[in-house]
Amino acid sequence: MVGAGLGGLTAAGFLQRAGFTVKVYEQAPAFSRIGAGIILSANATKVLRRLGLEDALISAGIKSRQYISRAWDTGATMYEIVFDAASERRFGGAYVHIHRGDLHTVLKHAVAPSTIAFDHQLVDLDEKAGAARLIFANGASTEADIVIGADGIRSKVRDYLLGAEPPRFSGAAAYRAIFPADRLNGVKIPDCTKWWGTDRHCLPYYLTGRRDEVYAIGVVPVSHWDGDEAAVPTTREQYLASFAGFHADLQRVLQAVDGVSLWPIYDRPRNDCWSGGNGSRIVLLGDACHPVPPYMAAGGAMAVEDAAILSRCLTTFDDRDEAFASYMATRIPRVADVQRISLENTWMRGPTDTDWFYCYDPCTAPLKPP
Ligand SMILES: Cc1cc2nc3c(=O)[nH]c(=O)nc-3n(C[C@H](O)[C@H](O)[C@H](O)COP(=O)(O)OP(=O)(O)OC[C@H]3O[C@@H](n4cnc5c(N)ncnc54)[C@H](O)[C@@H]3O)c2cc1C
Repeated sequence: MVGAGLGGLTAAGFLQRAGFTVKVYEQAPAFSRIGAGIILSANATKVLRRLGLEDALISAGIKSRQYISRAWDTGATMYEIVFDAASERRFGGAYVHIHRGDLHTVLKHAVAPSTIAFDHQLVDLDEKAGAARLIFANGASTEADIVIGADGIRSKVRDYLLGAEPPRFSGAAAYRAIFPADRLNGVKIPDCTKWWGTDRHCLPYYLTGRRDEVYAIGVVPVSHWDGDEAAVPTTREQYLASFAGFHADLQRVLQAVDGVSLWPIYDRPRNDCWSGGNGSRIVLLGDACHPVPPYMAAGGAMAVEDAAILSRCLTTFDDRDEAFASYMATRIPRVADVQRISLENTWMRGPTDTDWFYCYDPCTAPLKPP
């Protein structure tokens, strides 16, 4: 496995439980608490339950009580969904917000100790008759029967399969800020609100069950992005200026933000080639094969679903080609729908049928024939 992100660790956890010998190679020297949150909907949390992680996930993050869509100017409620015991029964899982660093602390328990080899950046890959060879920046190399590229939007494994091609700048960037809730000076906010402007949106939500930490992500159009940085520091004033004119309830939240950074958003055109085909030992999952614009809070969930389906295919089919073909046939139509809706940025803007997305269970959904 290349990449110890959400998809890689979930897949590794399932494959180890199925009896495969799995090693996860991760470029980072360790997991760190980078400044961002993530929402995991029921279709993902029910999968993590199968890995025994649900309680830890909920105690590190927050089981959200509601999501509200509001109009940028009048503040009118455009859509609201309540998450309670009934919705949890219906969807089969909780709707959780969590700090990404805390998520990794939870996820590393998906795999046996010593499974993750940190400081192993894949730099080259070679398929031979008997095995695939992986070469790392630290000089190490290894061989594997199967290589799963779970190495994100700048995937090296994808480069090997499809040719090196950088992701494209999407024309938008995200302000991100995490701050203590006491900076709100007693202002109470709902667990999660999406403020919908005409060309921008802002999503403040709590990150902990104590409701003492808030994350506010605000996406704005940006004509171009120079440089290779994953993020640049910016200011509260800049964040406020980008949302000037928005409703006073949002202004109050943005006045409290601290430690603001701006992250360019990248994507890739759709490509349905997720494995090397005929006899190939290499397959991709998550952002490595299908980055999803972050407007439906679904990219991480798609990586988790991929991981569950791929591990089922590898345990169901003895033949690797059949396993990869069934995995792609099962995943591509659903991921394509999610990519399209994310790109349109319409999810839960108004009345929305959420069942097809939240009720889906990749651990039991039928596998398509190869
Ligand atoms: C602004 C923003 C907000 C988002 N919000 C949400 C949300 O609320 N909910 C949601 O579900 N999704 C969200 N997403 C999407 C989500 O973050 C991704 O879809 C998800 O992280 C993809 O998981 P992954 O496992 O495929 O890749 P990643 O999480 O990117 O993990 C890839 C891993 O591979 C490692 N790696 C990379 N290259 C190499 C290499 N050469 N060698 C070894 N290791 C390597 C990386 O260090 C990393 O650990 C958001 C995305 C953005 C940009």
